[in-house]
Amino acid sequence: MFKFYNTLSRTVEEFHPNEEGKVSMYTCGPTVYHFAHIGNIRTYIMQDVLLKSLEYAGYDVKRVMNITDVGHLASDADTGEDKMVAGAKREHKTVMEIAKFYTDAFFKDFDAVGNKRPDVVEPATNCIPEFIHMVETLLEKGYAYLAGGNVYFDTSKLEDYYVFSSSVEKEALEVGVRDDVEEDTNKKNKTDFVLWFTKSKFEDQALKWDSPWGVGYPGWHIECSCISMKHLGEYIDIHCGGVDNIFPHHTNEIAQSEAYLGHKWCNYWFHSNHLNDQSGKMSKSKGAILTVSVLQEKGYDPLVYRFFCLQSHYRKPLVFSYENLDNAVVAYNKIVKRVSELKAEGTVDESVKTEFENKFREAVSNDLNTSMAVTILYDALKADTNDATKLAIIESFDRVLSLDLIGHAKALSEAGTSVDSEFEAFINDAIARRAEAKKAKDFATADAIRDELLAKGVEIKDTREGVVWKLV
Ligand SMILES: [Zn+2]
Repeated sequence: MFKFYNTLSRTVEEFHPNEEGKVSMYTCGPTVYHFAHIGNIRTYIMQDVLLKSLEYAGYDVKRVMNITDVGHLASDADTGEDKMVAGAKREHKTVMEIAKFYTDAFFKDFDAVGNKRPDVVEPATNCIPEFIHMVETLLEKGYAYLAGGNVYFDTSKLEDYYVFSSSVEKEALEVGVRDDVEEDTNKKNKTDFVLWFTKSKFEDQALKWDSPWGVGYPGWHIECSCISMKHLGEYIDIHCGGVDNIFPHHTNEIAQSEAYLGHKWCNYWFHSNHLNDQSGKMSKSKGAILTVSVLQEKGYDPLVYRFFCLQSHYRKPLVFSYENLDNAVVAYNKIVKRVSELKAEGTVDESVKTEFENKFREAVSNDLNTSMAVTILYDALKADTNDATKLAIIESFDRVLSLDLIGHAKALSEAGTSVDSEFEAFINDAIARRAEAKKAKDFATADAIRDELLAKGVEIKDTREGVVWKLV
Protein backbone atom coordinates (compact mmCIF):
# COMPACT_ATOMS: atom_id res chain seq x y z
CA MET A 1 0.00 0.00 0.00
CA PHE A 2 1.40 3.37 -1.04
CA LYS A 3 1.14 6.09 1.61
CA PHE A 4 2.25 9.69 1.82
CA TYR A 5 1.41 12.88 3.68
CA ASN A 6 -1.54 14.70 2.14
CA THR A 7 -1.45 18.41 3.04
CA LEU A 8 -5.19 18.58 2.43
CA SER A 9 -6.07 16.10 5.21
CA ARG A 10 -2.91 16.83 7.26
CA THR A 11 -2.30 13.09 7.67
CA VAL A 12 -0.29 10.31 6.08
CA GLU A 13 -2.92 8.70 3.86
CA GLU A 14 -3.22 5.58 1.78
CA PHE A 15 -3.06 6.56 -1.85
CA HIS A 16 -5.98 5.63 -4.13
CA PRO A 17 -5.85 7.13 -7.62
CA ASN A 18 -9.00 7.99 -9.57
CA GLU A 19 -8.22 5.32 -12.14
CA GLU A 20 -6.87 1.95 -11.02
CA GLY A 21 -3.12 1.67 -11.67
CA LYS A 22 -2.80 5.14 -13.19
CA VAL A 23 -1.62 8.38 -11.63
CA SER A 24 -2.00 11.92 -12.92
CA MET A 25 0.56 14.20 -11.31
CA TYR A 26 1.00 17.95 -11.65
CA THR A 27 4.05 19.94 -10.61
CA CYS A 28 4.37 23.71 -10.28
CA GLY A 29 7.34 24.57 -12.46
CA PRO A 30 9.90 27.34 -12.05
CA THR A 31 9.40 31.05 -12.69
CA VAL A 32 12.17 31.51 -15.23
CA TYR A 33 13.38 34.97 -14.23
CA HIS A 34 16.48 33.75 -12.39
CA PHE A 35 18.42 30.61 -11.51
CA ALA A 36 16.79 27.84 -9.45
CA HIS A 37 18.85 27.47 -6.25
CA ILE A 38 19.70 24.11 -4.71
CA GLY A 39 16.72 24.43 -2.34
CA ASN A 40 14.37 24.65 -5.33
CA ILE A 41 16.15 21.66 -6.85
CA ARG A 42 15.65 19.70 -3.61
CA THR A 43 11.90 20.05 -4.19
CA TYR A 44 12.23 18.66 -7.72
CA ILE A 45 14.43 15.79 -6.51
CA MET A 46 11.82 14.75 -3.93
CA GLN A 47 9.05 14.96 -6.55
CA ASP A 48 11.16 12.78 -8.82
CA VAL A 49 11.52 10.27 -5.99
CA LEU A 50 7.72 10.34 -5.52
CA LEU A 51 7.20 9.72 -9.25
CA LYS A 52 9.73 6.87 -9.41
CA SER A 53 8.50 5.32 -6.14
CA LEU A 54 4.98 5.23 -7.59
CA GLU A 55 6.38 3.58 -10.72
CA TYR A 56 8.34 1.14 -8.54
CA ALA A 57 5.05 0.28 -6.82
CA GLY A 58 3.58 -0.53 -10.23
CA TYR A 59 1.71 2.66 -11.15
CA ASP A 60 1.72 4.22 -14.57
CA VAL A 61 2.34 7.94 -13.95
CA LYS A 62 1.70 10.88 -16.26
CA ARG A 63 3.34 14.06 -15.06
CA VAL A 64 2.78 17.63 -16.26
CA MET A 65 4.75 20.74 -15.33
CA ASN A 66 4.31 24.40 -16.26
CA ILE A 67 6.98 26.99 -16.90
CA THR A 68 5.98 30.39 -15.52
CA ASP A 69 7.12 32.92 -18.10
CA VAL A 70 4.49 35.57 -17.39
CA GLY A 71 2.28 36.86 -14.58
CA HIS A 72 4.24 36.01 -11.42
CA LEU A 73 4.63 39.23 -9.47
CA ALA A 74 7.35 39.98 -6.93
CA SER A 75 4.97 39.14 -4.09
CA ASP A 76 2.85 36.00 -4.35
CA ALA A 77 -0.06 38.19 -3.25
CA ASP A 78 -0.20 39.93 -6.65
CA THR A 79 1.74 43.03 -5.71
CA GLY A 80 5.01 44.42 -7.02
CA GLU A 81 6.48 44.09 -10.46
CA ASP A 82 6.27 41.07 -12.75
CA LYS A 83 9.30 38.90 -11.95
CA MET A 84 10.03 38.29 -15.63
CA VAL A 85 9.99 42.02 -16.44
CA ALA A 86 12.28 42.71 -13.48
CA GLY A 87 14.65 39.97 -14.68
CA ALA A 88 14.74 41.41 -18.20
CA LYS A 89 15.50 44.91 -16.89
CA ARG A 90 18.23 43.60 -14.60
CA GLU A 91 20.00 41.88 -17.49
CA HIS A 92 19.12 44.29 -20.32
CA LYS A 93 17.45 41.52 -22.30
CA THR A 94 13.95 40.86 -23.57
CA VAL A 95 11.53 38.86 -21.45
CA MET A 96 11.62 35.99 -23.96
CA GLU A 97 15.44 35.93 -23.92
CA ILE A 98 15.33 35.76 -20.14
CA ALA A 99 12.74 32.98 -20.25
CA LYS A 100 14.80 30.93 -22.71
CA PHE A 101 18.06 31.39 -20.81
CA TYR A 102 16.68 30.47 -17.38
CA THR A 103 14.53 27.62 -18.71
CA ASP A 104 17.68 26.06 -20.20
CA ALA A 105 19.65 26.69 -17.00
CA PHE A 106 16.85 25.13 -14.95
CA PHE A 107 16.75 21.94 -17.00
CA LYS A 108 20.53 21.63 -17.01
CA ASP A 109 20.45 21.39 -13.20
CA PHE A 110 17.16 19.44 -13.14
CA ASP A 111 18.69 16.75 -15.40
CA ALA A 112 22.11 16.74 -13.70
CA VAL A 113 20.65 15.55 -10.38
CA GLY A 114 19.12 12.49 -12.05
CA ASN A 115 15.53 13.71 -12.47
CA LYS A 116 13.29 12.35 -15.19
CA ARG A 117 11.71 15.08 -17.33
CA PRO A 118 7.91 15.39 -16.96
CA ASP A 119 5.87 13.95 -19.83
CA VAL A 120 4.57 17.44 -20.63
CA VAL A 121 6.31 20.76 -19.97
CA GLU A 122 4.16 23.72 -20.94
CA PRO A 123 5.12 27.41 -20.80
CA ALA A 124 2.30 29.64 -19.57
CA THR A 125 2.53 31.87 -22.66
CA ASN A 126 1.35 28.87 -24.77
CA CYS A 127 -2.03 28.79 -23.08
CA ILE A 128 -3.51 32.30 -23.21
CA PRO A 129 -6.82 31.19 -24.86
CA GLU A 130 -7.32 28.56 -22.13
CA PHE A 131 -6.73 31.19 -19.39
CA ILE A 132 -9.21 33.57 -20.99
CA HIS A 133 -11.80 30.81 -21.26
CA MET A 134 -11.48 29.94 -17.58
CA VAL A 135 -11.73 33.59 -16.50
CA GLU A 136 -14.83 34.07 -18.70
CA THR A 137 -16.48 31.03 -17.11
CA LEU A 138 -15.66 32.22 -13.58
CA LEU A 139 -17.26 35.59 -14.42
CA GLU A 140 -20.36 33.87 -15.84
CA LYS A 141 -20.68 31.70 -12.75
CA GLY A 142 -20.43 34.74 -10.48
CA TYR A 143 -17.08 33.80 -8.88
CA ALA A 144 -15.20 36.71 -10.42
CA TYR A 145 -15.64 40.46 -10.88
CA LEU A 146 -14.12 43.31 -12.81
CA ALA A 147 -12.58 46.23 -10.91
CA GLY A 148 -10.15 48.92 -11.99
CA GLY A 149 -9.52 47.12 -15.26
CA ASN A 150 -8.54 43.80 -13.65
CA VAL A 151 -10.54 40.62 -13.15
CA TYR A 152 -10.51 39.32 -9.57
CA PHE A 153 -11.59 36.06 -7.99
CA ASP A 154 -14.15 36.67 -5.25
CA THR A 155 -13.04 34.48 -2.34
CA SER A 156 -16.15 35.38 -0.29
CA LYS A 157 -18.18 33.14 -2.63
CA LEU A 158 -16.48 30.06 -1.19
CA GLU A 159 -17.56 28.17 1.89
CA ASP A 160 -14.00 27.37 2.87
CA TYR A 161 -11.22 29.34 1.24
CA TYR A 162 -8.37 28.28 3.58
CA VAL A 163 -8.67 24.59 2.67
CA PHE A 164 -5.18 23.64 3.83
CA SER A 165 -5.30 25.24 7.25
CA SER A 166 -6.47 24.42 10.74
CA SER A 167 -8.64 27.01 12.49
CA VAL A 168 -5.62 28.42 14.36
CA GLU A 169 -3.62 28.73 11.14
CA LYS A 170 -6.62 30.37 9.46
CA GLU A 171 -6.63 33.15 12.04
CA ALA A 172 -2.92 33.75 11.58
CA LEU A 173 -3.31 33.84 7.80
CA GLU A 174 -6.22 36.29 8.05
CA VAL A 175 -4.07 38.61 10.16
CA GLY A 176 -1.18 38.22 7.70
CA VAL A 177 -3.36 39.07 4.71
CA ARG A 178 -4.81 42.09 6.55
CA ASP A 179 -1.35 43.41 7.34
CA ASP A 180 -0.10 43.09 3.77
CA VAL A 181 1.47 46.50 3.21
CA GLU A 182 0.57 47.09 -0.39
CA GLU A 183 -3.18 47.29 -0.51
CA ASP A 184 -5.07 46.88 -3.75
CA THR A 185 -8.22 49.00 -3.30
CA ASN A 186 -9.96 47.23 -6.19
CA LYS A 187 -10.33 44.07 -4.15
CA LYS A 188 -13.65 43.41 -2.43
CA ASN A 189 -12.00 41.06 0.06
CA LYS A 190 -8.40 41.04 1.21
CA THR A 191 -7.92 37.47 0.01
CA ASP A 192 -9.26 38.09 -3.50
CA PHE A 193 -6.67 37.57 -6.21
CA VAL A 194 -6.14 38.63 -9.80
CA LEU A 195 -7.19 36.34 -12.65
CA TRP A 196 -6.40 38.77 -15.44
CA PHE A 197 -4.48 42.05 -15.37
CA THR A 198 -5.02 44.75 -17.99
CA LYS A 199 -2.64 47.53 -18.89
CA SER A 200 -4.14 49.59 -16.12
CA LYS A 201 -1.81 47.85 -13.68
CA PHE A 202 1.59 48.02 -15.42
CA GLU A 203 2.06 50.17 -18.47
CA ASP A 204 5.45 48.61 -19.19
CA GLN A 205 4.43 44.95 -19.05
CA ALA A 206 6.30 43.42 -21.99
CA LEU A 207 3.96 40.55 -22.83
CA LYS A 208 0.32 41.44 -23.44
CA TRP A 209 -2.58 39.79 -25.18
CA ASP A 210 -6.07 40.81 -26.29
CA SER A 211 -8.85 39.72 -24.00
CA PRO A 212 -12.54 40.52 -23.53
CA TRP A 213 -11.42 42.88 -20.69
CA GLY A 214 -8.76 44.76 -22.65
CA VAL A 215 -5.12 44.14 -23.49
CA GLY A 216 -3.40 42.47 -20.59
CA TYR A 217 -1.89 39.33 -19.12
CA PRO A 218 -2.91 36.46 -16.86
CA GLY A 219 -2.45 36.16 -13.10
CA TRP A 220 0.01 33.55 -11.89
CA HIS A 221 -2.35 31.10 -10.18
CA ILE A 222 -4.61 30.57 -13.21
CA GLU A 223 -1.74 29.00 -15.14
CA CYS A 224 -1.47 25.86 -13.10
CA SER A 225 -5.24 25.25 -13.05
CA CYS A 226 -5.52 25.58 -16.84
CA ILE A 227 -2.34 23.73 -17.76
CA SER A 228 -3.16 20.79 -15.53
CA MET A 229 -6.73 20.54 -16.92
CA LYS A 230 -5.46 20.86 -20.48
CA HIS A 231 -3.25 17.77 -20.15
CA LEU A 232 -4.67 15.78 -17.23
CA GLY A 233 -8.40 16.47 -17.39
CA GLU A 234 -10.86 17.54 -14.70
CA TYR A 235 -9.63 15.17 -11.98
CA ILE A 236 -6.02 14.95 -10.90
CA ASP A 237 -4.52 12.63 -8.33
CA ILE A 238 -1.45 14.47 -7.03
CA HIS A 239 -0.40 18.11 -7.12
CA CYS A 240 3.16 18.89 -6.01
CA GLY A 241 5.06 21.94 -4.87
CA GLY A 242 7.20 23.40 -2.13
CA VAL A 243 5.68 24.32 1.25
CA ASP A 244 5.92 27.97 0.13
CA ASN A 245 3.27 27.25 -2.46
CA ILE A 246 0.59 26.16 0.03
CA PHE A 247 -0.55 29.72 0.62
CA PRO A 248 -1.56 31.62 -1.41
CA HIS A 249 -0.69 29.79 -4.66
CA HIS A 250 -2.21 26.35 -4.10
CA THR A 251 -5.06 27.75 -2.01
CA ASN A 252 -5.97 30.00 -4.96
CA GLU A 253 -5.52 27.21 -7.51
CA ILE A 254 -8.09 25.10 -5.64
CA ALA A 255 -10.49 28.05 -5.26
CA GLN A 256 -10.60 28.86 -8.97
CA SER A 257 -10.39 25.25 -10.25
CA GLU A 258 -13.22 23.93 -8.12
CA ALA A 259 -15.36 27.02 -8.73
CA TYR A 260 -14.79 26.50 -12.47
CA LEU A 261 -15.38 22.73 -12.46
CA GLY A 262 -18.14 22.56 -9.86
CA HIS A 263 -16.52 19.52 -8.20
CA LYS A 264 -13.43 18.46 -6.27
CA TRP A 265 -10.33 18.77 -8.41
CA CYS A 266 -7.28 17.18 -6.80
CA ASN A 267 -7.24 14.58 -4.02
CA TYR A 268 -3.62 14.61 -2.82
CA TRP A 269 -1.27 17.54 -2.24
CA PHE A 270 2.43 16.76 -1.85
CA HIS A 271 4.69 19.47 -0.40
CA SER A 272 8.39 19.28 0.41
CA ASN A 273 10.13 21.41 2.97
CA HIS A 274 12.81 24.10 2.76
CA LEU A 275 16.53 23.81 2.42
CA ASN A 276 18.18 26.08 4.96
CA ASP A 277 21.72 27.32 5.11
CA GLN A 278 23.45 28.60 8.24
CA SER A 279 21.70 31.96 7.91
CA GLY A 280 18.21 30.50 7.46
CA LYS A 281 15.98 29.75 4.52
CA MET A 282 17.66 29.80 1.13
CA SER A 283 16.36 32.54 -1.15
CA LYS A 284 17.14 34.32 -4.38
CA SER A 285 17.18 37.76 -2.84
CA LYS A 286 20.15 37.09 -0.55
CA GLY A 287 23.31 37.63 -2.61
CA ALA A 288 24.80 35.00 -4.92
CA ILE A 289 22.50 32.14 -5.84
CA LEU A 290 23.84 28.71 -5.00
CA THR A 291 22.92 26.41 -7.88
CA VAL A 292 23.71 22.82 -8.78
CA SER A 293 25.94 24.18 -11.57
CA VAL A 294 27.91 26.21 -9.00
CA LEU A 295 28.38 23.05 -6.91
CA GLN A 296 29.59 21.32 -10.06
CA GLU A 297 32.11 24.09 -10.73
CA LYS A 298 33.39 23.55 -7.20
CA GLY A 299 34.00 19.90 -8.09
CA TYR A 300 30.89 18.30 -6.59
CA ASP A 301 29.08 15.63 -8.54
CA PRO A 302 25.38 16.68 -8.86
CA LEU A 303 24.38 13.13 -7.94
CA VAL A 304 26.15 13.57 -4.60
CA TYR A 305 23.78 16.48 -3.98
CA ARG A 306 20.88 14.13 -4.78
CA PHE A 307 22.33 11.55 -2.37
CA PHE A 308 22.62 14.29 0.29
CA CYS A 309 18.90 15.09 -0.16
CA LEU A 310 17.86 11.41 -0.03
CA GLN A 311 19.47 10.99 3.37
CA SER A 312 16.79 13.11 5.03
CA HIS A 313 13.00 13.16 4.95
CA TYR A 314 11.27 15.49 2.47
CA ARG A 315 8.91 16.93 5.10
CA LYS A 316 11.74 18.12 7.36
CA PRO A 317 13.77 21.24 6.70
CA LEU A 318 17.27 20.23 5.58
CA VAL A 319 20.37 22.18 6.55
CA PHE A 320 22.92 22.68 3.82
CA SER A 321 26.59 23.25 4.58
CA TYR A 322 29.72 22.27 2.69
CA GLU A 323 30.69 20.15 5.66
CA ASN A 324 27.43 18.18 5.35
CA LEU A 325 27.91 17.88 1.60
CA ASP A 326 31.50 16.68 2.07
CA ASN A 327 30.20 13.94 4.38
CA ALA A 328 27.82 12.91 1.61
CA VAL A 329 30.76 12.82 -0.84
CA VAL A 330 32.66 10.41 1.42
CA ALA A 331 29.62 8.17 1.91
CA TYR A 332 28.73 8.19 -1.79
CA ASN A 333 32.30 7.38 -2.87
CA LYS A 334 32.41 4.50 -0.39
CA ILE A 335 29.27 2.99 -1.91
CA VAL A 336 30.64 3.44 -5.43
CA LYS A 337 33.90 1.76 -4.37
CA ARG A 338 32.01 -1.17 -2.86
CA VAL A 339 29.94 -1.53 -6.04
CA SER A 340 33.08 -1.35 -8.20
CA GLU A 341 34.50 -4.34 -6.33
CA LEU A 342 31.50 -6.54 -7.22
CA LYS A 343 32.07 -9.03 -10.03
CA ALA A 344 29.23 -9.84 -12.40
CA GLU A 345 29.74 -13.54 -11.80
CA GLY A 346 27.23 -16.23 -10.88
CA THR A 347 23.50 -16.26 -11.39
CA VAL A 348 21.11 -13.87 -9.74
CA ASP A 349 19.35 -15.37 -6.72
CA GLU A 350 15.83 -14.20 -7.52
CA SER A 351 14.39 -14.93 -4.09
CA VAL A 352 17.04 -12.78 -2.34
CA LYS A 353 16.54 -10.05 -4.91
CA THR A 354 12.75 -10.08 -4.43
CA GLU A 355 13.15 -9.99 -0.66
CA PHE A 356 15.27 -6.84 -0.89
CA GLU A 357 13.01 -5.27 -3.49
CA ASN A 358 10.02 -5.78 -1.21
CA LYS A 359 11.79 -4.12 1.71
CA PHE A 360 12.86 -1.23 -0.50
CA ARG A 361 9.36 -0.81 -1.95
CA GLU A 362 7.92 -0.81 1.55
CA ALA A 363 10.33 1.98 2.60
CA VAL A 364 9.65 4.30 -0.33
CA SER A 365 5.91 3.54 -0.22
CA ASN A 366 5.83 4.62 3.42
CA ASP A 367 5.72 8.40 3.00
CA LEU A 368 8.95 8.29 0.97
CA ASN A 369 11.29 7.01 3.66
CA THR A 370 14.38 7.63 1.56
CA SER A 371 16.89 7.36 4.41
CA MET A 372 15.53 3.87 5.13
CA ALA A 373 15.84 3.08 1.42
CA VAL A 374 19.53 4.05 1.59
CA THR A 375 19.97 1.85 4.68
CA ILE A 376 18.48 -1.09 2.75
CA LEU A 377 21.01 -0.39 -0.01
CA TYR A 378 23.83 -0.72 2.57
CA ASP A 379 22.23 -3.95 3.84
CA ALA A 380 22.12 -5.34 0.29
CA LEU A 381 25.85 -4.60 -0.17
CA LYS A 382 26.59 -6.52 3.05
CA ALA A 383 24.14 -9.36 2.35
CA ASP A 384 25.20 -12.98 2.32
CA THR A 385 24.67 -13.53 -1.39
CA ASN A 386 26.71 -13.50 -4.60
CA ASP A 387 27.90 -10.41 -6.46
CA ALA A 388 25.57 -10.88 -9.43
CA THR A 389 22.58 -10.72 -7.08
CA LYS A 390 23.93 -7.62 -5.36
CA LEU A 391 24.45 -5.89 -8.70
CA ALA A 392 20.91 -6.78 -9.78
CA ILE A 393 19.52 -5.37 -6.51
CA ILE A 394 21.49 -2.13 -6.89
CA GLU A 395 20.30 -1.74 -10.47
CA SER A 396 16.74 -2.23 -9.28
CA PHE A 397 17.01 0.31 -6.41
CA ASP A 398 18.59 2.84 -8.74
CA ARG A 399 15.34 3.03 -10.70
CA VAL A 400 14.17 5.18 -7.76
CA LEU A 401 17.40 6.48 -6.23
CA SER A 402 18.88 7.46 -9.63
CA LEU A 403 22.42 7.73 -8.24
CA ASP A 404 24.03 6.03 -11.27
CA LEU A 405 25.93 3.76 -8.87
CA ILE A 406 26.81 1.15 -11.48
CA GLY A 407 27.91 3.76 -14.05
CA HIS A 408 30.14 5.48 -11.49
CA ALA A 409 31.52 2.15 -10.29
CA LYS A 410 32.42 1.21 -13.87
CA ALA A 411 34.20 4.53 -14.39
CA LEU A 412 36.08 3.97 -11.15
CA SER A 413 37.26 0.47 -12.03
CA GLU A 414 38.17 1.51 -15.57
CA ALA A 415 40.26 4.28 -14.05
CA GLY A 416 42.22 1.61 -12.15
CA THR A 417 43.15 1.87 -8.51
CA SER A 418 45.95 -0.64 -8.11
CA VAL A 419 48.49 1.86 -6.78
CA ASP A 420 49.77 2.50 -3.28
CA SER A 421 48.22 5.25 -1.22
CA GLU A 422 51.25 7.54 -1.46
CA PHE A 423 51.14 7.42 -5.27
CA GLU A 424 47.38 7.88 -5.22
CA ALA A 425 47.79 11.01 -3.08
CA PHE A 426 50.33 12.32 -5.58
CA ILE A 427 47.93 11.72 -8.47
CA ASN A 428 45.06 13.43 -6.66
CA ASP A 429 47.27 16.38 -5.81
CA ALA A 430 48.36 16.67 -9.45
CA ILE A 431 44.72 16.55 -10.60
CA ALA A 432 43.85 19.30 -8.12
CA ARG A 433 46.80 21.46 -9.26
CA ARG A 434 45.75 20.96 -12.89
CA ALA A 435 42.16 22.01 -12.06
CA GLU A 436 43.50 25.17 -10.38
CA ALA A 437 45.66 25.94 -13.42
CA LYS A 438 42.73 25.42 -15.77
CA LYS A 439 40.56 27.66 -13.63
CA ALA A 440 43.22 30.37 -13.86
CA LYS A 441 43.28 29.78 -17.63
CA ASP A 442 46.92 28.72 -17.33
CA PHE A 443 46.63 25.96 -19.91
CA ALA A 444 50.39 25.54 -20.36
CA THR A 445 50.76 24.49 -16.72
CA ALA A 446 47.66 22.31 -16.93
CA ASP A 447 49.08 20.50 -19.97
CA ALA A 448 52.49 20.16 -18.29
CA ILE A 449 50.86 18.46 -15.27
CA ARG A 450 48.99 16.09 -17.57
CA ASP A 451 52.26 15.21 -19.37
CA GLU A 452 54.06 14.77 -16.07
CA LEU A 453 51.41 12.24 -14.97
CA LEU A 454 51.58 10.46 -18.30
CA ALA A 455 55.34 10.15 -17.92
CA LYS A 456 54.65 8.35 -14.63
CA GLY A 457 52.22 5.98 -16.37
CA VAL A 458 48.97 7.73 -15.41
CA GLU A 459 46.52 8.87 -18.03
CA ILE A 460 43.82 11.34 -16.99
CA LYS A 461 40.52 11.98 -18.70
CA ASP A 462 37.93 14.73 -18.24
CA THR A 463 34.47 13.18 -18.06
CA ARG A 464 30.99 14.34 -17.20
CA GLU A 465 31.57 12.91 -13.72
CA GLY A 466 34.83 14.80 -13.24
CA VAL A 467 38.44 13.81 -13.82
CA VAL A 468 39.18 10.08 -13.91
CA TRP A 469 42.58 8.41 -14.25
CA LYS A 470 43.96 5.03 -15.23
CA LEU A 471 47.35 3.36 -15.39
CA VAL A 472 48.76 2.96 -18.90
ZN1 LIG B 1 1.37 26.19 -9.57
